Amino acid sequence: MIPQVIDKTKVTSPAFDVSRIRRDFPILSEIINGWPLAYLDNAASSQHPVAVLQAIDTYYREAHANVHRGVHTLSQRATECYEGARDKVRRFINARSTHEIIFVRGTTEAINLVAQSYGRTHFKPGDEIVLTQLEHHANIVPWQLLAGELGLVLRVAPIDERGMVDYAAYESLLGPRTRLVAFAHASNALGTVLPVKRMVAAARARGIASLIDGAQAVPHLKVDVQALDCDFYAFSGHKMFGPTGIGVLYGREALLEAMPPWQGGGDMILTVSFTKGTTYNTLPYKFEAGTPSIADAIGLGAAIDYIDALDWEALIAYENDLLAYATRRVGALPGIRLIGTADDKVSVLSFVMDGVHPHDLGTILDTEGIAVRTGHHCAMPVMEYFNLPATARASFAFYNTRAEVDRLVAALTRARAVFA
Ligand code: PMP
Repeated sequence: MIPQVIDKTKVTSPAFDVSRIRRDFPILSEIINGWPLAYLDNAASSQHPVAVLQAIDTYYREAHANVHRGVHTLSQRATECYEGARDKVRRFINARSTHEIIFVRGTTEAINLVAQSYGRTHFKPGDEIVLTQLEHHANIVPWQLLAGELGLVLRVAPIDERGMVDYAAYESLLGPRTRLVAFAHASNALGTVLPVKRMVAAARARGIASLIDGAQAVPHLKVDVQALDCDFYAFSGHKMFGPTGIGVLYGREALLEAMPPWQGGGDMILTVSFTKGTTYNTLPYKFEAGTPSIADAIGLGAAIDYIDALDWEALIAYENDLLAYATRRVGALPGIRLIGTADDKVSVLSFVMDGVHPHDLGTILDTEGIAVRTGHHCAMPVMEYFNLPATARASFAFYNTRAEVDRLVAALTRARAVFA
């Protein structure tokens, strides 16, 4: 029997009708362990509106063939859809040209591309890369690998007990050997929004290149790469209501133009010859070797259409309200400590409960249909700073509700009664 759950999923503001939005996401009606799903794991991967599912389905039913070079109708349809998606991405982040939009598998691949192509050509032994303590492993390990091979030095800007980057310390790390700064727009483990515009400007003023890991920012903030003035911006489709297997590297055109390919194969070449050598394709194709994730790119385009049609001012206000509510309610529970209390945050609430391992907490919550993530969140240096092996993390999207937060609070209260 399904336990009675009071549905408080009401219109919370005239501009943002969450109950209507929830109807667009079929998976949100799933019953998990006899309870309605409360999906609070959006920072790991978000869910899909029908429009995205339909775009992928329609593509496979009516337009699938390999892209580029095909003269037949289906190949032209597929190419139009795929390139159309690229232009949607360009508009979404306000890039100047589709030459600057490289489709990749996700944020991880985007950062590895920059490390392998830009890094190998520009960095010399002794050169320095500045990161922060908040980074996801995807923005640490590619640089460690490169540093090991090229003899680079990684410098790490520290954070404080609220999970905010020490800006003065960051700036003091920018020196004559610094070649690149690379940092998250928002932290996946804590939700902290970094002052990226200021951080990029400080680097640019010293002639240092910049990369922003935007994986956690694009679902919550309006991103404008020209206003940010960064050199590279990376994000994943699956955290912004699009499919897995597709992501984006934005790069400033002049930099991409000067960078060598990082993977070889079909599509990234103009000519191949055993005698005359090989010449490479123009941007963005130079960085897209092999058959791309066509359907996933189209799905990402549909996700962009979906979120672009929402009232963003109302959406941001709604998410901020939800996070403030969750922070207040979960933070007031006895035995709970919130990890990451920065002034400026996106929808992430990390916490630990005295005497209960986060994994046990996650398992208990799942028995009531509540999906949270537990672990180090691929941000072990953050855990190291707080001297914790793991946290439990509830992360929200615009389709979550105060009613779901209430269920989380009730389930945490029951869990504490069992364990404490
Ligand atoms: N950076 C951040 C801040 C993230 O949250 C994630 C995903 N958790 C990544 C990078 C890696 O993204 P992906 O696994 O989609 O490549």
